[in-house]
Amino acid sequence: MTASVLDGKAIALDLRAQYREQVAALSARGRRPGLAVVLVGDNAASQVYVRNKVAACEAAGILSENIVLPAATAQAELIARIEALNADPRIHGILVQLPLPPHIDEAAVLATVAARKDVDGFHLDNVGALALGKPRFVPCTPKGVMVMLQTAGIDPRGREAVVLGRSNIVGKPMASLLLAADATVTICHSRTADLGYHTRRADILVAAIGRPSMIKADMVKPGAVVIDVGINRIADGSLCGDVDFAAVREVASWITPVPGGVGPMTIAMLLANTIEAAGRDA
Ligand code: NDP
Repeated sequence: MTASVLDGKAIALDLRAQYREQVAALSARGRRPGLAVVLVGDNAASQVYVRNKVAACEAAGILSENIVLPAATAQAELIARIEALNADPRIHGILVQLPLPPHIDEAAVLATVAARKDVDGFHLDNVGALALGKPRFVPCTPKGVMVMLQTAGIDPRGREAVVLGRSNIVGKPMASLLLAADATVTICHSRTADLGYHTRRADILVAAIGRPSMIKADMVKPGAVVIDVGINRIADGSLCGDVDFAAVREVASWITPVPGGVGPMTIAMLLANTIEAAGRDA
């Protein structure tokens, strides 16, 4: 079997065209969605992510405010900037690009972002709402994965879903969303005793571990849906996922490429969450 490729880039492009119309409609009612992106320091990968997010906002007609602070910024200064954004009526969504420099307490900063403007879904209120099965803002990457599944007509109900990775940004919210969609969910991590035992049981396998091409064909159940969240830069400078794409493609029924899979969906969901934030009390 050769898997169909789940083309996140194409799905995201379609969605972004719809979002442009929604933004235009909100703007016409005097409620142009606004997103503030806060970057602290000069992490090269973060700079690329922020640039892509800001460009996507602008293409959709969303007001974007890009705040770049030096790596030595004091935590109190960063918190004061976020509080000002919380109070700014032009701004409906606030995104603090992670990671933050080591002298800054990430949890304290994320807790400062007003829950109603937390388009990344990292505030405790939003994390709790998702855990209780009553999601408000859902983290963009796992939300994007769910939209991809839906677009391909893949219903997780009753299926075995195995999530590789337990981060707060991807693995845990991914598991919560699959559980809410009535999958039977297993979460694996670096201490999992026999990874292959679990991956081979998966009807839906989501890899979010950050290990280049670690998931091989013999770890995948024939006909499985394989979602590759990983983004890894390898020695030749190119990007690859956590899944050995060429080999796993011969076993799976659906597979996402890297690049061009989950990544573009993450950005599209950021726009979706920002539009939702602007529309909420419109
Ligand atoms: P983290 O480093 O925060 O988490 C990685 C997780 O993988 C941890 O839970 C870790 O386990 C687990 N893990 C690491 N090695 C293994 C292993 N050998 N076997 C099993 N589990 C393992 O990463 P993130 O969740 O932030 O990101 C994961 C990947 O997804 C990265 O490549 C990142 O670049 C990418 N990413 C892509 C996005 C996109 O838009 N496509 C968005 C966000 C991330 P433990 O908890 O035990 O340490």
